Amino acid sequence: MGEPVEPTAAQGNFRYFRNSPTEATLPLTNQPQPPQINIVVPLYNEEASFPELVKRLTALMDSEPLRITAILVDDGSRDATPRLMRQLALNDERFQAVFLSRNFGHQLALTAGLSYIDATEAVLIIDGDLQDPPELLGRFYTELKNGYDVVYAVREKRKENFVKRTAYNAFYKILKRISYIDIPLDSGDFSLISRQVADELNQMPEASRFVRGMRSWVGFNQIGIPYERTGRAAGQSKYTLRKLLGLALNGIFNFSEYPIKFITTLGILTISSSVIYFLVTLIKKLVYDTVPEGFSALLFVIILFGGVQLIAIGIIGEYILRIFFQVKNRPLFIVRHVIKNRQEQNG
Ligand code: UDP
Ligand code: MG
Repeated sequence: MGEPVEPTAAQGNFRYFRNSPTEATLPLTNQPQPPQINIVVPLYNEEASFPELVKRLTALMDSEPLRITAILVDDGSRDATPRLMRQLALNDERFQAVFLSRNFGHQLALTAGLSYIDATEAVLIIDGDLQDPPELLGRFYTELKNGYDVVYAVREKRKENFVKRTAYNAFYKILKRISYIDIPLDSGDFSLISRQVADELNQMPEASRFVRGMRSWVGFNQIGIPYERTGRAAGQSKYTLRKLLGLALNGIFNFSEYPIKFITTLGILTISSSVIYFLVTLIKKLVYDTVPEGFSALLFVIILFGGVQLIAIGIIGEYILRIFFQVKNRPLFIVRHVIKNRQEQNG
Protein backbone atom coordinates (compact mmCIF):
# COMPACT_ATOMS: atom_id res chain seq x y z
CA MET A 1 0.00 0.00 0.00
CA GLY A 2 2.84 2.36 -0.70
CA GLU A 3 0.77 4.05 -3.37
CA PRO A 4 0.49 7.81 -3.41
CA VAL A 5 -2.45 8.79 -1.31
CA GLU A 6 -5.21 10.75 -2.93
CA PRO A 7 -6.80 13.40 -0.78
CA THR A 8 -10.26 12.26 0.19
CA ALA A 9 -13.37 13.45 1.85
CA ALA A 10 -12.40 11.94 5.12
CA GLN A 11 -9.27 14.00 5.38
CA GLY A 12 -10.62 17.35 4.66
CA ASN A 13 -13.40 19.75 4.63
CA PHE A 14 -16.32 19.10 2.38
CA ARG A 15 -15.84 22.41 0.65
CA TYR A 16 -12.77 21.09 -1.08
CA PHE A 17 -14.88 18.85 -3.23
CA ARG A 18 -15.49 21.37 -5.96
CA ASN A 19 -11.86 21.09 -6.96
CA SER A 20 -11.64 17.46 -6.05
CA PRO A 21 -8.77 15.48 -7.56
CA THR A 22 -11.27 13.67 -9.76
CA GLU A 23 -11.60 16.73 -11.95
CA ALA A 24 -7.88 16.81 -12.51
CA THR A 25 -7.99 13.36 -14.07
CA LEU A 26 -9.38 14.58 -17.36
CA PRO A 27 -8.16 12.52 -20.28
CA LEU A 28 -4.55 13.04 -21.21
CA THR A 29 -3.63 11.52 -24.54
CA ASN A 30 -2.90 7.98 -23.45
CA GLN A 31 -5.00 7.80 -20.34
CA PRO A 32 -8.25 5.89 -20.24
CA GLN A 33 -11.24 8.17 -20.58
CA PRO A 34 -13.12 8.94 -17.39
CA PRO A 35 -16.52 7.32 -17.03
CA GLN A 36 -19.66 9.16 -18.07
CA ILE A 37 -21.72 7.57 -15.34
CA ASN A 38 -20.84 6.52 -11.79
CA ILE A 39 -23.16 4.16 -9.99
CA VAL A 40 -22.91 4.64 -6.22
CA VAL A 41 -23.99 1.70 -4.08
CA PRO A 42 -23.85 1.65 -0.27
CA LEU A 43 -23.59 -1.87 1.13
CA TYR A 44 -24.04 -3.14 4.65
CA ASN A 45 -23.96 -6.90 5.16
CA GLU A 46 -25.18 -7.57 1.65
CA GLU A 47 -23.28 -10.81 0.95
CA ALA A 48 -26.55 -12.52 0.02
CA SER A 49 -27.52 -10.13 -2.76
CA PHE A 50 -23.97 -9.21 -3.79
CA PRO A 51 -23.47 -11.80 -6.58
CA GLU A 52 -26.79 -10.83 -8.17
CA LEU A 53 -25.91 -7.13 -7.84
CA VAL A 54 -22.59 -7.62 -9.60
CA LYS A 55 -24.24 -9.69 -12.31
CA ARG A 56 -26.83 -7.02 -13.02
CA LEU A 57 -24.34 -4.14 -12.88
CA THR A 58 -21.89 -5.91 -15.16
CA ALA A 59 -24.66 -6.72 -17.63
CA LEU A 60 -25.67 -3.07 -17.58
CA MET A 61 -22.10 -1.87 -18.15
CA ASP A 62 -21.77 -4.29 -21.07
CA SER A 63 -25.06 -3.39 -22.70
CA GLU A 64 -25.28 0.38 -22.33
CA PRO A 65 -23.38 2.46 -24.89
CA LEU A 66 -22.02 4.53 -22.00
CA ARG A 67 -18.81 4.36 -20.03
CA ILE A 68 -20.04 3.30 -16.60
CA THR A 69 -18.16 2.57 -13.40
CA ALA A 70 -19.53 1.59 -10.02
CA ILE A 71 -18.42 2.92 -6.65
CA LEU A 72 -19.27 0.34 -4.01
CA VAL A 73 -19.14 1.52 -0.42
CA ASP A 74 -18.74 -0.97 2.39
CA ASP A 75 -20.45 0.53 5.41
CA GLY A 76 -18.54 -1.51 7.99
CA SER A 77 -20.11 -4.85 7.05
CA ARG A 78 -19.50 -7.80 9.33
CA ASP A 79 -20.17 -10.48 6.75
CA ALA A 80 -18.36 -11.43 3.54
CA THR A 81 -19.31 -8.20 1.72
CA PRO A 82 -15.88 -6.49 2.09
CA ARG A 83 -14.07 -9.63 0.97
CA LEU A 84 -16.30 -10.00 -2.10
CA MET A 85 -15.91 -6.30 -2.90
CA ARG A 86 -12.15 -6.54 -2.66
CA GLN A 87 -12.00 -9.54 -4.93
CA LEU A 88 -14.18 -7.81 -7.49
CA ALA A 89 -12.42 -4.45 -7.43
CA LEU A 90 -8.99 -6.06 -7.80
CA ASN A 91 -10.19 -7.94 -10.88
CA ASP A 92 -12.39 -5.46 -12.67
CA GLU A 93 -11.37 -1.82 -12.94
CA ARG A 94 -14.97 -0.80 -13.59
CA PHE A 95 -15.65 -1.42 -9.91
CA GLN A 96 -14.16 0.85 -7.31
CA ALA A 97 -14.38 -0.17 -3.65
CA VAL A 98 -14.47 2.22 -0.71
CA PHE A 99 -14.23 0.72 2.76
CA LEU A 100 -15.45 2.75 5.71
CA SER A 101 -13.83 2.25 9.10
CA ARG A 102 -17.14 1.23 10.73
CA ASN A 103 -20.89 1.33 10.18
CA PHE A 104 -21.84 4.95 9.61
CA GLY A 105 -25.35 4.34 8.29
CA HIS A 106 -26.87 4.39 4.83
CA GLN A 107 -26.96 8.15 4.32
CA LEU A 108 -23.32 8.64 5.28
CA ALA A 109 -22.19 5.63 3.28
CA LEU A 110 -23.94 7.20 0.32
CA THR A 111 -22.27 10.52 1.08
CA ALA A 112 -18.92 8.75 1.19
CA GLY A 113 -19.57 7.18 -2.21
CA LEU A 114 -20.54 10.53 -3.67
CA SER A 115 -17.26 12.03 -2.53
CA TYR A 116 -15.38 9.64 -4.86
CA ILE A 117 -17.25 10.34 -8.08
CA ASP A 118 -15.30 10.98 -11.26
CA ALA A 119 -18.01 10.67 -13.89
CA THR A 120 -18.23 13.45 -16.41
CA GLU A 121 -22.00 13.36 -16.84
CA ALA A 122 -24.04 11.89 -14.04
CA VAL A 123 -24.28 9.71 -10.96
CA LEU A 124 -26.81 6.93 -10.42
CA ILE A 125 -27.65 6.22 -6.78
CA ILE A 126 -29.05 2.79 -5.97
CA ASP A 127 -29.48 0.45 -3.01
CA GLY A 128 -27.40 -2.69 -2.91
CA ASP A 129 -30.36 -5.03 -2.50
CA LEU A 130 -31.65 -4.44 -6.05
CA GLN A 131 -34.88 -2.89 -4.86
CA ASP A 132 -33.83 -0.11 -7.21
CA PRO A 133 -33.38 -1.79 -10.61
CA PRO A 134 -30.15 -0.41 -12.13
CA GLU A 135 -31.58 -1.20 -15.58
CA LEU A 136 -33.65 1.99 -15.35
CA LEU A 137 -30.45 3.92 -16.02
CA GLY A 138 -31.24 4.08 -19.73
CA ARG A 139 -34.62 5.71 -19.16
CA PHE A 140 -33.24 8.10 -16.58
CA TYR A 141 -30.38 9.03 -18.88
CA THR A 142 -32.83 9.92 -21.63
CA GLU A 143 -34.46 12.41 -19.25
CA LEU A 144 -31.05 13.80 -18.37
CA LYS A 145 -30.47 14.38 -22.06
CA ASN A 146 -33.90 16.05 -22.21
CA GLY A 147 -32.52 18.70 -19.91
CA TYR A 148 -33.29 17.40 -16.44
CA ASP A 149 -30.58 17.59 -13.78
CA VAL A 150 -32.26 15.29 -11.28
CA VAL A 151 -34.24 12.25 -12.37
CA TYR A 152 -35.66 10.54 -9.31
CA ALA A 153 -37.66 7.37 -9.03
CA VAL A 154 -41.13 7.47 -7.52
CA ARG A 155 -42.32 4.25 -5.92
CA GLU A 156 -45.62 3.25 -7.40
CA LYS A 157 -46.21 -0.02 -5.67
CA ARG A 158 -44.28 -1.39 -2.79
CA LYS A 159 -43.83 -5.03 -2.13
CA GLU A 160 -43.32 -4.54 1.55
CA ASN A 161 -45.56 -5.43 4.43
CA PHE A 162 -48.68 -3.44 5.22
CA VAL A 163 -47.42 -1.77 8.40
CA LYS A 164 -44.22 -0.55 6.74
CA ARG A 165 -46.14 0.70 3.71
CA THR A 166 -48.64 2.62 5.81
CA ALA A 167 -45.89 4.12 7.95
CA TYR A 168 -43.97 5.21 4.84
CA ASN A 169 -47.08 6.77 3.32
CA ALA A 170 -47.91 8.67 6.48
CA PHE A 171 -44.34 9.90 6.82
CA TYR A 172 -44.05 11.21 3.28
CA LYS A 173 -47.42 12.94 3.53
CA ILE A 174 -46.48 14.65 6.79
CA LEU A 175 -43.08 15.61 5.42
CA LYS A 176 -44.61 17.11 2.31
CA ARG A 177 -47.06 19.08 4.44
CA ILE A 178 -44.62 20.58 6.89
CA SER A 179 -41.29 20.92 5.13
CA TYR A 180 -40.18 24.17 3.56
CA ILE A 181 -38.92 22.45 0.45
CA ASP A 182 -40.88 20.47 -2.05
CA ILE A 183 -39.85 16.93 -1.20
CA PRO A 184 -41.47 14.67 -3.77
CA LEU A 185 -43.90 12.15 -2.34
CA ASP A 186 -42.63 8.63 -2.04
CA SER A 187 -39.25 9.07 -3.62
CA GLY A 188 -36.18 7.57 -2.06
CA ASP A 189 -32.54 8.05 -2.85
CA PHE A 190 -32.83 6.10 -6.11
CA SER A 191 -32.03 8.71 -8.74
CA LEU A 192 -29.78 9.86 -11.53
CA ILE A 193 -28.24 13.23 -10.76
CA SER A 194 -26.05 15.34 -13.00
CA ARG A 195 -22.42 15.78 -12.08
CA GLN A 196 -23.17 19.41 -11.24
CA VAL A 197 -25.88 18.44 -8.77
CA ALA A 198 -23.60 15.81 -7.24
CA ASP A 199 -20.92 18.47 -6.79
CA GLU A 200 -23.46 20.71 -5.09
CA LEU A 201 -24.43 17.91 -2.69
CA ASN A 202 -20.77 17.35 -1.93
CA GLN A 203 -20.47 21.03 -1.06
CA MET A 204 -23.15 20.86 1.57
CA PRO A 205 -21.45 20.51 4.93
CA GLU A 206 -24.43 19.41 7.00
CA ALA A 207 -23.70 16.70 9.48
CA SER A 208 -27.14 15.12 9.71
CA ARG A 209 -27.86 14.12 6.17
CA PHE A 210 -31.13 13.31 4.49
CA VAL A 211 -29.92 13.00 0.94
CA ARG A 212 -33.31 12.92 -0.81
CA GLY A 213 -34.22 16.18 0.94
CA MET A 214 -30.90 17.81 0.06
CA ARG A 215 -31.33 16.65 -3.51
CA SER A 216 -34.68 18.39 -3.65
CA TRP A 217 -33.32 21.50 -1.94
CA VAL A 218 -30.63 22.12 -4.57
CA GLY A 219 -33.27 22.91 -7.17
CA PHE A 220 -32.44 22.70 -10.90
CA ASN A 221 -34.80 20.81 -13.22
CA GLN A 222 -36.17 17.74 -11.50
CA ILE A 223 -38.46 15.02 -12.73
CA GLY A 224 -39.97 11.94 -11.09
CA ILE A 225 -40.27 8.65 -12.94
CA PRO A 226 -42.69 6.07 -11.51
CA TYR A 227 -41.47 2.54 -11.00
CA GLU A 228 -42.54 -0.52 -9.14
CA ARG A 229 -40.39 -1.18 -6.12
CA THR A 230 -39.77 -4.89 -5.81
CA GLY A 231 -38.73 -6.80 -2.72
CA ARG A 232 -35.09 -7.25 -1.84
CA ALA A 233 -33.02 -9.65 -3.94
CA ALA A 234 -31.92 -11.48 -0.82
CA GLY A 235 -31.40 -11.05 2.91
CA GLN A 236 -33.19 -8.87 5.42
CA SER A 237 -33.61 -5.12 5.53
CA LYS A 238 -30.52 -3.50 7.01
CA TYR A 239 -32.53 -0.63 8.40
CA THR A 240 -33.38 -1.32 12.02
CA LEU A 241 -36.46 0.41 13.35
CA ARG A 242 -34.16 2.80 15.18
CA LYS A 243 -32.25 3.71 12.02
CA LEU A 244 -35.49 4.17 10.12
CA LEU A 245 -36.88 6.43 12.82
CA GLY A 246 -33.64 8.40 12.82
CA LEU A 247 -33.96 8.87 9.07
CA ALA A 248 -37.57 10.05 9.43
CA LEU A 249 -36.61 12.52 12.17
CA ASN A 250 -33.79 13.88 10.00
CA GLY A 251 -36.26 14.39 7.20
CA ILE A 252 -38.54 16.39 9.43
CA PHE A 253 -36.14 18.37 11.61
CA ASN A 254 -33.64 19.14 8.85
CA PHE A 255 -36.22 20.53 6.48
CA SER A 256 -38.96 22.01 8.61
CA GLU A 257 -39.49 24.80 11.10
CA TYR A 258 -42.93 23.45 11.80
CA PRO A 259 -42.15 21.52 15.01
CA ILE A 260 -40.78 24.68 16.69
CA LYS A 261 -43.73 26.73 15.53
CA PHE A 262 -45.99 23.95 16.69
CA ILE A 263 -44.78 24.53 20.26
CA THR A 264 -46.00 28.11 20.11
CA THR A 265 -49.34 26.97 18.74
CA LEU A 266 -49.60 24.40 21.51
CA GLY A 267 -48.85 27.12 24.08
CA ILE A 268 -51.52 29.41 22.69
CA LEU A 269 -54.05 26.56 22.67
CA THR A 270 -53.37 25.58 26.26
CA ILE A 271 -53.49 29.16 27.50
CA SER A 272 -56.79 29.70 25.68
CA SER A 273 -58.29 26.57 27.17
CA SER A 274 -57.22 27.56 30.67
CA VAL A 275 -58.73 31.05 30.23
CA ILE A 276 -62.01 29.49 29.11
CA TYR A 277 -61.97 27.13 32.04
CA PHE A 278 -61.25 30.01 34.42
CA LEU A 279 -64.21 32.00 33.04
CA VAL A 280 -66.53 29.02 33.34
CA THR A 281 -65.53 28.51 36.96
CA LEU A 282 -65.94 32.18 37.73
CA ILE A 283 -69.46 32.26 36.26
CA LYS A 284 -70.40 29.10 38.12
CA LYS A 285 -69.23 30.69 41.38
CA LEU A 286 -70.95 34.04 40.82
CA VAL A 287 -74.21 32.75 39.37
CA TYR A 288 -74.74 29.36 40.99
CA ASP A 289 -72.38 29.69 43.91
CA THR A 290 -70.81 26.31 43.29
CA VAL A 291 -67.20 25.62 44.17
CA PRO A 292 -65.30 23.45 41.64
CA GLU A 293 -64.45 20.00 42.84
CA GLY A 294 -62.40 17.30 41.30
CA PHE A 295 -59.05 16.14 42.56
CA SER A 296 -58.66 13.66 39.72
CA ALA A 297 -59.36 16.31 37.09
CA LEU A 298 -56.62 18.42 38.61
CA LEU A 299 -54.20 15.55 38.59
CA PHE A 300 -55.05 14.80 34.99
CA VAL A 301 -54.37 18.38 33.93
CA ILE A 302 -51.06 18.52 35.77
CA ILE A 303 -49.85 15.30 34.18
CA LEU A 304 -51.09 16.36 30.76
CA PHE A 305 -49.20 19.62 30.85
CA GLY A 306 -46.13 17.93 32.28
CA GLY A 307 -46.18 15.79 29.15
CA VAL A 308 -46.79 18.72 26.84
CA GLN A 309 -43.81 20.54 28.31
CA LEU A 310 -41.54 17.53 27.96
CA ILE A 311 -42.51 17.15 24.33
CA ALA A 312 -41.80 20.83 23.76
CA ILE A 313 -38.37 20.44 25.33
CA GLY A 314 -37.81 17.32 23.23
CA ILE A 315 -38.58 19.21 20.05
CA ILE A 316 -36.16 21.98 20.96
CA GLY A 317 -33.68 19.26 21.87
CA GLU A 318 -33.87 17.77 18.38
CA TYR A 319 -32.78 21.07 16.89
CA ILE A 320 -30.08 21.60 19.52
CA LEU A 321 -28.71 18.12 18.88
CA ARG A 322 -28.34 18.97 15.23
CA ILE A 323 -26.48 22.16 16.13
CA PHE A 324 -24.31 20.11 18.50
CA PHE A 325 -23.32 17.63 15.80
CA GLN A 326 -22.73 20.41 13.33
CA VAL A 327 -20.43 22.53 15.49
CA LYS A 328 -18.29 19.55 16.41
CA ASN A 329 -17.26 19.66 12.77
CA ARG A 330 -16.03 16.09 12.67
CA PRO A 331 -15.52 14.36 9.37
CA LEU A 332 -18.81 12.72 8.41
CA PHE A 333 -17.21 9.33 7.83
CA ILE A 334 -13.80 7.73 7.88
CA VAL A 335 -12.43 5.77 4.96
CA ARG A 336 -10.19 2.86 5.86
CA HIS A 337 -9.02 2.20 2.33
CA VAL A 338 -9.95 2.30 -1.31
CA ILE A 339 -9.41 0.06 -4.32
CA LYS A 340 -9.39 1.98 -7.56
CA ASN A 341 -8.13 0.92 -10.97
CA ARG A 342 -7.46 -2.49 -9.39
CA GLN A 343 -4.98 -0.89 -6.99
CA GLU A 344 -5.15 -0.64 -3.23
CA GLN A 345 -4.87 2.85 -1.82
CA ASN A 346 -5.07 4.27 1.64
CA GLY A 347 -8.27 6.10 2.44
N1 UDP B 1 -27.25 0.29 4.25
C1 UDP B 1 -26.04 0.83 4.62
N2 UDP B 1 -25.80 1.07 5.95
C2 UDP B 1 -26.72 0.79 6.92
C3 UDP B 1 -27.98 0.28 6.52
C4 UDP B 1 -28.22 0.04 5.18
O1 UDP B 1 -25.19 1.08 3.78
O2 UDP B 1 -26.43 1.02 8.09
C5 UDP B 1 -27.51 0.03 2.81
C6 UDP B 1 -28.01 -1.36 2.51
O3 UDP B 1 -26.96 -2.28 2.36
C7 UDP B 1 -28.78 -1.14 1.23
C8 UDP B 1 -29.31 0.28 1.38
O4 UDP B 1 -28.53 0.89 2.39
O5 UDP B 1 -27.93 -1.18 0.11
C9 UDP B 1 -30.77 0.29 1.78
O6 UDP B 1 -30.96 -0.48 2.92
P1 UDP B 1 -32.16 -1.51 3.10
O7 UDP B 1 -32.43 -2.21 1.82
O8 UDP B 1 -31.85 -2.39 4.27
O9 UDP B 1 -33.34 -0.52 3.45
P2 UDP B 1 -34.89 -0.68 3.08
O10 UDP B 1 -34.94 -0.94 1.60
O11 UDP B 1 -35.35 -1.85 3.86
O12 UDP B 1 -35.51 0.61 3.48
MG1 MG C 1 -33.97 -2.32 0.62
